Amino acid sequence: MSERFLFTPGPVRISPDILALGAQQPPYFRNQAFSEVVLECESGLLELAGAPAGSRVIFLAGSGTAAMEACVINLLGEHNRALVVNGGGFGQRFVDICVTHRQPHHSLRVQLDNLARMSTRVQPESCDTLLINAHETTTGLLYDLDAVGDFVGHHNMLNIVDGISMFISDPLDMCAQDIDALIISSHKGLALPPGLCMVLLGPRALERIVRPAFYYQDFHSYLDNGTRGQTPFTPPITIVLQLQLRLRQLLGGGIAAEQQRLADVASHFRDAIASLPLACFSPSMPNAMTALTPTNDLSAERIVRDMESRYNMVLAPNGGDLRHRVFRVAHMGNVTIEYTDHLIEALFDYYSERS
Ligand SMILES: *Cc1c(COP(=O)(O)O)cnc(C)c1O
Repeated sequence: MSERFLFTPGPVRISPDILALGAQQPPYFRNQAFSEVVLECESGLLELAGAPAGSRVIFLAGSGTAAMEACVINLLGEHNRALVVNGGGFGQRFVDICVTHRQPHHSLRVQLDNLARMSTRVQPESCDTLLINAHETTTGLLYDLDAVGDFVGHHNMLNIVDGISMFISDPLDMCAQDIDALIISSHKGLALPPGLCMVLLGPRALERIVRPAFYYQDFHSYLDNGTRGQTPFTPPITIVLQLQLRLRQLLGGGIAAEQQRLADVASHFRDAIASLPLACFSPSMPNAMTALTPTNDLSAERIVRDMESRYNMVLAPNGGDLRHRVFRVAHMGNVTIEYTDHLIEALFDYYSERS
């Protein structure tokens, strides 16, 4: 089969050296050697996220949603009330998790609204905790984390941010943006295989931890074991080793340089396709991804199908109401301008055949 080009917002294109680690025998992990790997990953992640002193990392087996749910059950009790910024499928997921766990919450419906003026317009609805997806991946909208930080500061709320689809690709700073808990996962900007998700907990979040009625996801046991670089249960060992290598690369080369590289890839793509009957869907796009909407009568779903079957270009369709109107092109991971040029060429060929 000829090469399949991957432009989905998870999994993303992984670099060859990380892939090669995945072919090795996973080592035994209840020993000092592996503890050192975990501790190095913890400090590397905290550094990349600009976490305040005293912050800790929870390493959980599972996709990103496991970490979203773990935050709701560990950081919110029956006396807390969550304000959920619900701007699409992932905001709705936080709402669904709250509903499942009978967690008091208020769903704030927003539409392609970057919340820049949030502090003045939105009321906290007697909530003491904010749940927000920094990048609402279903619409390609990047919220303004500075404005969100001002808002939670003003109302003295705990700020729980799902940064899954913008961590690494786009700037974020837990200290400067008043983020108390940051949710990330392996297979988006970190460009590793899926299966490891993490929660970075700042001091205020560490103080907030309740006694969840859950065994596997109880943060207490992760924090206790984590002090010596261990996890209570078997971690996705191989992904942790891949994370160690990836963090070394990012810290060595500088995160700002990587973000600039991805910003260049994203703007190269957006500029190149400007003459096609496609418009950017979101008014505030991350480096991570471009959400596009057809400006002619071609359905988004059809474009995604045709690009894969005719050109081996794997793009991300949307579900629900946006199925016909929106599709997505991710720029995360080991994606270069040259790699993206194959997609640009394919899109021009596709549209030239149709005119
Ligand atoms: C991908 C993603 C998740 C996690 O989804 P999984 O299917 O559990 O990996 C959570 N939030 C956002 C914003 C995402 O893009």
